[in-house]
Amino acid sequence: MPHPCLACGACCAQYRVAFHWLESDALGGGGVPHALTERLDAHRLCMRGTYSDPVRCVALDAVVGVRSRCRIHPDRPSVCREVDASWEYGKASPQCDRARIAHGMAPLTVADWRWRDDADNDDDHPDDSGNSPSSPRAA
Ligand code: SF4
Ligand code: SF4
Repeated sequence: MPHPCLACGACCAQYRVAFHWLESDALGGGGVPHALTERLDAHRLCMRGTYSDPVRCVALDAVVGVRSRCRIHPDRPSVCREVDASWEYGKASPQCDRARIAHGMAPLTVADWRWRDDADNDDDHPDDSGNSPSSPRAA
């Protein structure tokens, strides 16, 4: 069974994704592609499409609820990294739950992670690849 985020994408079509402009690649180097952002205020950018109605991040490649990936996963904003999928780390995530419900899906439960636990190694973070897809992972 794949990671549940790969068949979801709801949070990327639900919330405004705002962050400090220094997270972007505007000064060169790495970071969130500036071309995919719009200015929110003097210090903040947001992902294009997330300050709109309906919300849908420009970097989202998904049929929400069916398949999902983030086109800029390695360079996604910090706020995207901070959204855990519910029960991935032993507790519910209100943002995840709200987004899934808004898109007609049931919130994740502990049972949605059994596949991972069955493949566990020997610790409390059986999925600890170091790059957990708290939101859709790039292919
Ligand atoms: S964090 Fe939750 S809402 Fe976001 S893609 Fe993963 S399962 Fe869906
Ligand atoms: S994880 Fe990617 S697709 Fe989702 S909101 Fe963040 S930048 Fe957009």
